[in-house]
Amino acid sequence: MIVRQLPCRGFINSHLRAHLKRPQGSQDMARPSSDLAAFREIFSKAKNIAIVTGAGVSAESGVPTFRGAGGYWRKWQAQKLATPEAFSRNPSLVWEFYHYRREVMLTKNPNPAHLAIAECEERLGKQGRTVTVITQNIDELHRCAGSQNILEMHGSLFKTRCMSCGHEADNSKSPICAALEGKGAPDPDTGDAQIPVQQLPRCEHKGCHGLLRPAVVWFGETLDSDILSRAEKVLDSCDLCLVVGTSSVVYPAAMFAPQVAARGVPVAEFNMENTPATMRFQFHFHGPCGTTLPPALARHETEHT
Ligand SMILES: [Zn+2]
Repeated sequence: MIVRQLPCRGFINSHLRAHLKRPQGSQDMARPSSDLAAFREIFSKAKNIAIVTGAGVSAESGVPTFRGAGGYWRKWQAQKLATPEAFSRNPSLVWEFYHYRREVMLTKNPNPAHLAIAECEERLGKQGRTVTVITQNIDELHRCAGSQNILEMHGSLFKTRCMSCGHEADNSKSPICAALEGKGAPDPDTGDAQIPVQQLPRCEHKGCHGLLRPAVVWFGETLDSDILSRAEKVLDSCDLCLVVGTSSVVYPAAMFAPQVAARGVPVAEFNMENTPATMRFQFHFHGPCGTTLPPALARHETEHT
């Protein structure tokens, strides 16, 4: 069972250290390569490519990721609102926060990294090769870009789950309910809307009318076991893995790529900074992934279709 943890560096680092412990005599292990031609050679032969993506990809589309020092909505650290306890204490407040995030997404578009991944999936699909996106992001920008094979580890801003009957549904209504119209402003001095629970989003499945919640994985909740096992299957069978825009300190992504690297499969990291796992990977491409990814995933000269 994997529980979504608050990204606590101490915990992650000690765990990673144990996992990444280098074998004896490997102290002089080479740094990862940034040789694009060498990466492209491996890419051109890969049959099953896993692409693990994180907040950095969304950030390049201007999506607020609520991580680190800027991670505040009103006076709350966003992570404090993304918990089942916060929702049961004050569903109106948590819905205002998620309503704000949904409405912000209406103004955002996929960036060249999302588009390169989607185009690559479509092109390679015609050659009998697969590309699967395993993402921590909940903004559906991969879907907007045209990706089809997506495993959303942390759910979606545009899905709801009923607290009474458990029914999950796609939901892109704007606003999601009348009472939230014009609410959710992020400024610290905005007053809470204190919407009565009956006026919050309600279940429309078979007359249930239960309270809906965002179908995202909150801190302290377990990941969907079906999605997790599908992701593990993809990672067990991939012959190339890309890690894009994630610091690799957030579970479960932190485990995925080192696990793949440990069985000798090439892993390429595309990120703005080195991560605790960088030294385990064959390739590291530094910079915004909207710049580094498109040339990496473009049609290779050996592709005929
Ligand atoms: Zn229901």
